[in-house]
Amino acid sequence: MRTAAQPTATGLEAAQPVVVTQSPFKERAQAALCDRSLRQSFRGAMDFLTAKRAGVFDDPAEWQALSQLGEHIRQRALSKLPDLLEQLEHRCQQNGIHVHWAESTEQANQVVHGILAQHQATQVVKGKSMVSEEMALNHYLAERGVACLESDMGEYIVQLAGETPSHIIMPAIHKSKAQIAALFAEHLPGVPYTEDVDALIQIGRQVLRQKFLDAEVGISGVNFAVAETGTLCLVENEGNGRMCTTVPKVHIAVMGIEKVVEKLIDVAPLYSLLTRSATGQIVSTYLNLINGPRRPGELDGPQEVHLVLLDNGRSQAFADTQLRATLQCIRCGACMNHCPVYARIGGHAYGTVYPGPIGQIISPHLLGLQATPALPGASSLCGACGDVCPVKIPIPALLTRLRTEAARPANEQPHAMRGQGANANLRERQLWRWWRWLNTSPIAYRLLTWLLSRARHHLPKQLKPWTQVRTLPRPAPKTLHELMRQRTGRTS
Ligand code: SF4
Repeated sequence: MRTAAQPTATGLEAAQPVVVTQSPFKERAQAALCDRSLRQSFRGAMDFLTAKRAGVFDDPAEWQALSQLGEHIRQRALSKLPDLLEQLEHRCQQNGIHVHWAESTEQANQVVHGILAQHQATQVVKGKSMVSEEMALNHYLAERGVACLESDMGEYIVQLAGETPSHIIMPAIHKSKAQIAALFAEHLPGVPYTEDVDALIQIGRQVLRQKFLDAEVGISGVNFAVAETGTLCLVENEGNGRMCTTVPKVHIAVMGIEKVVEKLIDVAPLYSLLTRSATGQIVSTYLNLINGPRRPGELDGPQEVHLVLLDNGRSQAFADTQLRATLQCIRCGACMNHCPVYARIGGHAYGTVYPGPIGQIISPHLLGLQATPALPGASSLCGACGDVCPVKIPIPALLTRLRTEAARPANEQPHAMRGQGANANLRERQLWRWWRWLNTSPIAYRLLTWLLSRARHHLPKQLKPWTQVRTLPRPAPKTLHELMRQRTGRTS
């Protein structure tokens, strides 16, 4: 189990998340069901959120049209995902954004830490980002002497408590006013106990404001990344996202590779679906469109912007035609708010970064179905999650598929459900490493091609299974270098 750091005098560096709960799902669910306070918090919050959402989607025809458009936009983006990612990289680079690729969370953490090390940064502020939760970034950085402070109020509360988010939109939704008041009074020196919500928010803001000024680097998530323009879109309500991405001199954005959309015009409908489904708002307080570092003449903005693109099992889901639908998700949380199971047991009982119905269908890509066998069963299959999903992900159908797969022996389960990195074959990796070395070492490359051209008649005719359906190509009698030397008459 990870341990939480101890509170400091300010209470700010207190928080490194305590993430891993090892007990089985049923035990955790049972404990949650017996926790009266937890159930009251969730019941009240879910009723509030579902009513707010119903209020802004009061026209069924408009809902149908908009959610169909959202589904179409996400499916179109996924159908071109590899091309759009390359386009995004190219456009971002043109905009002055440094782009990094990470196959696993470990690689993504290394990239972020490498950037921090370049800038000798020891203080970082972070906006809300579920991908960074997936990476357990705070913990990784804390182990290397970097204090990463959550700046979203809900995230700040759970960080202070040494917990993890229990909801993807409202991380501290499991906490009552009294619990938050007690937490602030305990961790923040000189802060009196108060249950006045406005006062609590002001206290949190005062604490965080100075940290924005002190931090050398700001980290944020990304809601949508536009391939056409290289724009990173960040949706938020507190202004902390804008502070994280403009005040520190370096901004690092982390995102899952599925967040790319094709055109800037695609953002508007998805944004409307996101804010209305998530919190029942017509628009959020802030929509940040980030197009790169500060340009000459601009008054604010970071001097350096980095984008870290994380796979972590997503390409495995992408390769499965049915499970690809999970990548349509815009992380609105509506499926959780409407789930009768989630509303009763809360987020922590799932034991995964993403709880509720969306967590049940994406955790198998991230962790493997073997590590999460009980999750597909934690559903009444009432269909509410699928009905409210703004991009029409068929969650009940996917849960049914996962139940079937969970019943199979592990070695018969598809790759998409074996957890991140399952496709990574050690021999294949070594082969590619060797291939890269060969192609970047002129002497070795020439020697090998010379040898192959000389030994062309002695190469095996069959290299099974590759040659079962192909003819093994024969090396030419002379290498390209030799032909060019002959033609130009040069000796080297
Ligand atoms: S699955 Fe649908 S409802 Fe659930 S978080 Fe994703 S987009 Fe929202």
